[in-house]
Amino acid sequence: MPDAAAPSNTCPKCGSPLGDITATPTGRKLRRCSAGRWNPETRKVEGCDYVLWLAVEPETLGEPCPKCGAPLVLAVTRFGKKMKKCSTNSWDSAAKKATGCDYVAWINGTTEPLEENCPECGAKLVLYTTAAGKRMKKCSTAGWDKAKKEATGCTYVEWLRA
Ligand SMILES: [Zn+2]
Ligand SMILES: [Zn+2]
Ligand SMILES: [Zn+2]
Repeated sequence: MPDAAAPSNTCPKCGSPLGDITATPTGRKLRRCSAGRWNPETRKVEGCDYVLWLAVEPETLGEPCPKCGAPLVLAVTRFGKKMKKCSTNSWDSAAKKATGCDYVAWINGTTEPLEENCPECGAKLVLYTTAAGKRMKKCSTAGWDKAKKEATGCTYVEWLRA
């Protein structure tokens, strides 16, 4: 992060003040330039498009580390993936190595195949459990295009009650 020491309240592109902190659906925090505005109709930023991404503060979980007993924290990567890690773990940037306890558990959604066909396209359905424990049936052809940031394949989804 080369701009960590830069003045954080002014847009480096146009000099306007930065706006308030907002959060994405994946929990990442950002500040947009106040000279820019997200237009939901055109799905484009109008004006200055500078965005300052903020480091996500880890959230402490009420769960002890299975290795050393220290509290676990919930960390979110910049791609929105969640993991539990030990709060004693930190990154020594001088030595370029991790220090403290190295316990990490990735929190992933899980997918199980179902013996049921999609009512929309006839492909098999899968049971998907999100990281938050919500369950849904969805079509096995459904996917996510990371480059285009859009869903691909069949869009059939049926949420199940917990
Ligand atoms: Zn700007
Ligand atoms: Zn630990
Ligand atoms: Zn389908």
